[in-house]
Amino acid sequence: MKWIKTPLEQNGFQRYSSSDEIAGFLHTLAATAGRFARLDRIGYSAHGREILAVCCSAHSENPGMALQKLRVMLVGSQHGASEAAGCEALLHLARAILTGELQHLLEKFEFIIIPNANPDGRERDSSKNGNDVNINRDFVLLSQPESCALDTAVLRYQPAVVLDMHESAVLKRKTLGVEGYLTDFEAQFDIASHPAISENLQNYAESQLLPALIAAVETRGLRAQRYIREITSTKQPVTHGDLTMRIFRNKAGLRGALAILLETPMEPKADHHPTFRNIAVRMEKQWCCLQALLQVLQSQQPAILSAVARATQLPPQGNIALNGFYVPRNESPVTRINLRRRDTREIESIEFADHRAIAAHDFLQLPKAYIVQAHTDVFAELFERHRIPFDTVTEPFEAVLESDVFAYGDSSERILRVLDTSRDRAVVMPGHLYVPLLPDTARLLPLLLDPRSSSSVFQYPQFTQLITVHQPFFIARTPDQDR
Ligand SMILES: [Zn+2]
Repeated sequence: MKWIKTPLEQNGFQRYSSSDEIAGFLHTLAATAGRFARLDRIGYSAHGREILAVCCSAHSENPGMALQKLRVMLVGSQHGASEAAGCEALLHLARAILTGELQHLLEKFEFIIIPNANPDGRERDSSKNGNDVNINRDFVLLSQPESCALDTAVLRYQPAVVLDMHESAVLKRKTLGVEGYLTDFEAQFDIASHPAISENLQNYAESQLLPALIAAVETRGLRAQRYIREITSTKQPVTHGDLTMRIFRNKAGLRGALAILLETPMEPKADHHPTFRNIAVRMEKQWCCLQALLQVLQSQQPAILSAVARATQLPPQGNIALNGFYVPRNESPVTRINLRRRDTREIESIEFADHRAIAAHDFLQLPKAYIVQAHTDVFAELFERHRIPFDTVTEPFEAVLESDVFAYGDSSERILRVLDTSRDRAVVMPGHLYVPLLPDTARLLPLLLDPRSSSSVFQYPQFTQLITVHQPFFIARTPDQDR
């Protein structure tokens, strides 16, 4: 089969691939691969560039086999040119799967490869999209076309596994760098970890997947660890990643996928690098982690399929936590982490408070449905963006409705708390929105709609202003009588 050079190989690693070159490469690759590949346009960027997904699958002769295949979605460079290596590694992977040495993987896997998730950011030499928004903080509002495209792709393809590929500069010029330190890591992985995500899925990911993944990367010669959130000061406590639905990983996890974050480092730009911004070395690190992941997914396929199959089952007691917060680890309240001196590059072991335990907060008994009684146009549009099914009520009907009454607490932070909850028989009027809790949305809908949730739309001013304190909240719940 014809060997097609990636754009990076064509330019001799002298600059990043452009969004046009990436699209051109994917078209040529898909045409060459014939029946193994389909190129889908999953959306357009803010500036109108195509966002492409290469779908790779080999149809099995034995139809029973097809059901056993693991569908894996790989997403590169959400943060544009600032984190370019994920995309470049995925072009490499797509070629190896479709026309090269990894074609045999199609016996066990189907792949949805989205190398260039933020094509505007790549062209603007930025981490943000064409509207200057960080798309990986936009999965609650879905205000940007790129985040919408990724969220919809998770629904459309229903992958069992989602990998979100990032990079991080070891020099934080304005924060840790000022204290004279660089971070020191080679590869880190996190999992979706909002406490509302299926316990089965989280237990599997934490106790089986992560240890195997870290070991597989280390066997390949890179040091690997569970993700530690960006260290901006030697005085801060250490935690894992963001616990809200604003980020892609947690949103995909709440939709029932086994979602994984990969992050590899970028050395200071001012250092001497053999290739443009050291892209060859950076790509190699991402490539190494991809191979380790594929090896682990192969060996743990039955466990993954079983954890994912149970991910949309409702929790046994019918309640979920609206929030998760990092708290000190009881067993080891402090930890030591290696940093590098910025001047000498020597390793120094530094003590940090260890806040890597997650405490679940603000439990909610899952209702049967939500009733939106005001601002219905705003919420109808929100539900459409999230692909959350709802009905507009046409005939009035009576139901028991629960409504919270909110007030601001005494602190200056303007955090809403529940003052009271009313429970009455009331009439649901024509024009109101009836939003049933379905298995696919039961874990994310309360997070989106409950003002107490740090993942809710009410964290954003345009929604906060819709709440009238000391009055029953305009989104009521119909209690689930069966529980
Ligand atoms: Zn990133």
